[in-house]
Amino acid sequence: MNIHEYQAKTVLKSFGVSVPRGIAAFTVDEAVKAAETLGGPVWVVKAQIHAGGRGKGGGVKVVRSIEEVRKEATRMLGMTLITHQTGPHGRVVHRLYVEEGSAIERELYLSALVDRETSRIAFIASTEGGMDIEQVAKTTPEKILTFQVEPAAGYQPYVGRNIATALKLKGDQVKQCGKLIEGLYNAFSAKDMSLLEINPLVVTKDGQVICLDAKINFDDNALFRHKDVAELRDPDEEDPTEREAAKYDLSYVKLDGSIGCMVNGAGLAMATMDIIKLFGEEPANFLDVGGGASKEKVTAAFKIIVSDPNVKGILVNIFGGIMKCDIIAEGIVAAARELSLKVPLVVRLEGTNVDQGKEILAKSGLPIVSGTDLSDAAQKIVKAVRAK
Ligand code: ADP
Ligand code: MG
Repeated sequence: MNIHEYQAKTVLKSFGVSVPRGIAAFTVDEAVKAAETLGGPVWVVKAQIHAGGRGKGGGVKVVRSIEEVRKEATRMLGMTLITHQTGPHGRVVHRLYVEEGSAIERELYLSALVDRETSRIAFIASTEGGMDIEQVAKTTPEKILTFQVEPAAGYQPYVGRNIATALKLKGDQVKQCGKLIEGLYNAFSAKDMSLLEINPLVVTKDGQVICLDAKINFDDNALFRHKDVAELRDPDEEDPTEREAAKYDLSYVKLDGSIGCMVNGAGLAMATMDIIKLFGEEPANFLDVGGGASKEKVTAAFKIIVSDPNVKGILVNIFGGIMKCDIIAEGIVAAARELSLKVPLVVRLEGTNVDQGKEILAKSGLPIVSGTDLSDAAQKIVKAVRAK
């Protein structure tokens, strides 16, 4: 789960991490009032969306008067902000963050994540902050350094010192950096984060080390023990179909292609998407109905797939293990009838009771095409979609 920058900064502040003063605003008047409360003389008006690159897209503006705060807030609220992370459709701005402006001396990069190779929380630091870190990784990878935290010992001051050295910090800034890293580490582990990115971490002209931007991803599997975090969810930032899918415990990710997929098991879903691409078409979604797919789940999954206007055909690829093929076939037939399906449907079943399952599909009287194996099924749906 993602949260907004202003929420992330509130979380970090509660762990003693230095962030600029700021106030969230949902209306232009609130933004003006926030600026008055903060007192200036420099403010930054920041669009709050779950994507980075806002600065380049016009979503971060440094201003020097209350009038400018009003002007920028009016411009940003309701705008569709397009950045390299939002995709071409962009995101509508519903919230703003008005922050005190910092006089920046240097912009650095700092992040923390769970390093899967070492099973440790690791910090990644670079002197090349503020810009696209992916670009730095590509062109000058030696400028990105990794620091592991030994889990049995927990955070140790030498980690902070090493990071401070890598970031070329001096004197009191080394101390500030240590405190900051300790706070970030504590926040990361206490709140079960999976990613924490500070880009930029800045050194101000008066020598303060502070987080100017903050992005946090939380581990969804641990949300049940962080009610306070779960409450920060912003439904405006979520795809409505993905939300609907979550209600039925379906793993659904919308994609841009034309073939809707219904599959059980994430690995099989990936393989299904791959084979659709192999035969020249694009999947419209990733959808894993899980191991114990019921008739209700199958129906819900169909509804979600057909609600996407890009879907020109559906490929069902189910392996009946615990879930028997005949039960799945009944679910498919019932859903196809209920929704009076208008797009071609190819079904590939394999596993327990596969023959009964195929018979149910064949006898349904519906135009459901059976695939003998994955390759056959994929070719049939690609052909059907192209014939339309
Ligand atoms: P994004 O990563 O989405 O572009 P950031 O919060 O990193 O958004 O802001 C982009 C740039 O705007 C920063 O690199 C920094 O130069 C400037 N900036 C952001 N917040 C402040 C602030 N409080 N004071 C001064 N400059 C800021
Ligand atoms: Mg940033």
